[in-house]
Amino acid sequence: MQATESIQKLRGVGTQRIAQLEKLGIRTIGELLLHYPRAYIDLSAPFSISGAPYDQPCVIRAKVLRKYPPVRLHTGISLYRVQAADESASLELTFFNTKFAVDQLDCDTAYLFYGRAEGSLLHRTMSAPQIYPLQNAHLYQPVYPLTAGLSNKVLFGLITQALQHKPQLPELLPEALRQELLLDGINEGIFNIHLPQNADQLTRARRRLMFEELFTLAVGIGLLRTQTRNCRALAMQPCSMQPFYAALPFTLTGAQQRAITELLSDLQGTTPMNRLVQGDVGSGKTMVAAAGAYFVAQSGAQAALMAPTELLARQHYEGLSSLCGSLGMRIGLLTGSMTAAQKRKVRQQLEAGEIDLCVGTHALLSEGVSFHRLALVITDEQHRFGVAQRAALQQKGEHPHTLVMSATPIPRTLALMVYGELDVSVIDELPPNRQPVKTYKISSGKRERAFGFIRQHLDRGLQAYIVCPLVASGEVETGLQAATDYAAQLSSNDFSGYCVSLLHGKMSASEKERVMAGFQAGSIQLLVSTTVIEVGVDVPNAVIMMIENAERFGLSQLHQLRGRVGRGSEQSHCILLSDTRSPDTLERLMMMCRSNNGFEIAEYDLKTRGPGNFLGQQQHGLPKLRIADLTTEPELVAQAQAAAQTLLHEDPALSQPAHQPLRQACEQLMDAVGERPN
Ligand code: ADP
Ligand code: MG
Repeated sequence: MQATESIQKLRGVGTQRIAQLEKLGIRTIGELLLHYPRAYIDLSAPFSISGAPYDQPCVIRAKVLRKYPPVRLHTGISLYRVQAADESASLELTFFNTKFAVDQLDCDTAYLFYGRAEGSLLHRTMSAPQIYPLQNAHLYQPVYPLTAGLSNKVLFGLITQALQHKPQLPELLPEALRQELLLDGINEGIFNIHLPQNADQLTRARRRLMFEELFTLAVGIGLLRTQTRNCRALAMQPCSMQPFYAALPFTLTGAQQRAITELLSDLQGTTPMNRLVQGDVGSGKTMVAAAGAYFVAQSGAQAALMAPTELLARQHYEGLSSLCGSLGMRIGLLTGSMTAAQKRKVRQQLEAGEIDLCVGTHALLSEGVSFHRLALVITDEQHRFGVAQRAALQQKGEHPHTLVMSATPIPRTLALMVYGELDVSVIDELPPNRQPVKTYKISSGKRERAFGFIRQHLDRGLQAYIVCPLVASGEVETGLQAATDYAAQLSSNDFSGYCVSLLHGKMSASEKERVMAGFQAGSIQLLVSTTVIEVGVDVPNAVIMMIENAERFGLSQLHQLRGRVGRGSEQSHCILLSDTRSPDTLERLMMMCRSNNGFEIAEYDLKTRGPGNFLGQQQHGLPKLRIADLTTEPELVAQAQAAAQTLLHEDPALSQPAHQPLRQACEQLMDAVGERPN
């Protein structure tokens, strides 16, 4: 049987199964074998009844003593009870309606039972356990991702059946590499990931398959890089930056200057730039972007600055307008909520080259937008944009230079993979005279006192934010209602006599704009908002940020929110309100109180919450991985990265015949994110 053959070749696969398997992305034998278990039930070390944990499913070895006659419950369900025991205690097993399960049990025989052991020390129970005979062939029972109608047992059966035919999968890893890193062959790896005989085999199989996936990803990203390296970009002419520096109301920090130097040097080359500017909130990334736009304009070319929200786009536009004005640069704004006539006008100006810097949202990506001479594409807070969107904007010009600005600190190991195709400038210095934000965690009993503290600051002409969480999407409406009610309540009670306004994502663009303009101008003193203000909003006169239900936010998100204050010379405060009693959550909030360093916080977030919470897949725009995890195996990531570089050095376009299977695998993987290396 070939790996490329249809799953129809397997016994027991009819139209229904085909449809179910299709839902899991499985059409061929090979794809079936690449459907890896998500976990294993380890039958090799069962618990005694008295030693079984209470809070998680486990395997218990026990002997069946007695089977009671079924009891018919008033709900119509038949309840089967079975008495089992070992030397340590007895265990009552219950089954609902599953006569066949009970029938397969023989009295005076020991079995392995998998389930959640509950009850008390003297009367332990397990409800609807899975049953395994003692002499089970597979000590590690794989648990697969499933879909409706397809049980684990059936899927495992199909995979075992396929493995019996020994289908051969293509070996993607060069022989020499496998020997050097002591990695199993692909077919051995596949067999052992489904049917491991012992822990060592399983570990080896996992390492082999994770490495392959990371290696394929690293090679795929490497190919993308070679591809852009081979394109020619518009090279900018050297020019004096003196007028730009002179127009700024402050002196740039050393880190900003370094980033600008790197940026300008890239812009003068014919190789398209691919640079990430990474700097903590408030480090002044916008000025680096502005310097790039100025430089490009001096060569008669255009720059585009794309922001993830209307609010941010408008703020950038307004913030940069006067600077551009004094430098003789023409700036434009293009967002989705503008009228058709306004948009048309901007599009015409862009096409005619009458705008030097265009700020906008996704609207910049839309069909009708074309540029006269686009040389630089800047995306702000790029973790909100996928790889595909970035590519779409790039296509608006002849391989324009790209600059990506992000405040989301990504741990080094991860950055290597995520931004493998980018050069990185780090702004590791804040503008002078910034006092670190003081952060406190309080419980709701102290809310009144916090309000008093906020009022004192408002009385001094300063401003404050109160942020309410909008939780999961299902709760959006109630969350919104809560924020709306809360704002109304504050303005009539604790903050009567003050100007309180509400800002949330469901408001129309013009309403949001009105509120933000009022807050920026200082006429609104207290802004109650959902997390729409998370990214980039810049009002230096706002000095207090109070966050309700702080436990509902991730640490990196809290840090982003906190970055909205501490932007002026006044001491700023961040108040985390939470009644959580979970020690872990408390510890996380205390971490916020201790540290103001985004990188430190991100590393901690990663360690304590796991990568899933830290960086969603879409956030970094990488393909979905089957088995590897970019964050938990830093050493393997580094090895894969190094091996990929060596290989691409030898065969930059993967044109050698031996590398064709790998090339195909890379294309498939990268296709999944809409960018293809060739
Ligand atoms: P972020 O990196 O978070 O995007 P911004 O670019 O919004 O930061 O800058 C934050 C604030 O700091 C802005 O008000 C900006 O004008 C100001 N700023 C930027 N660079 C400097 C500097 N070198 N000295 C003083 N203030 C600066
Ligand atoms: Mg910013």
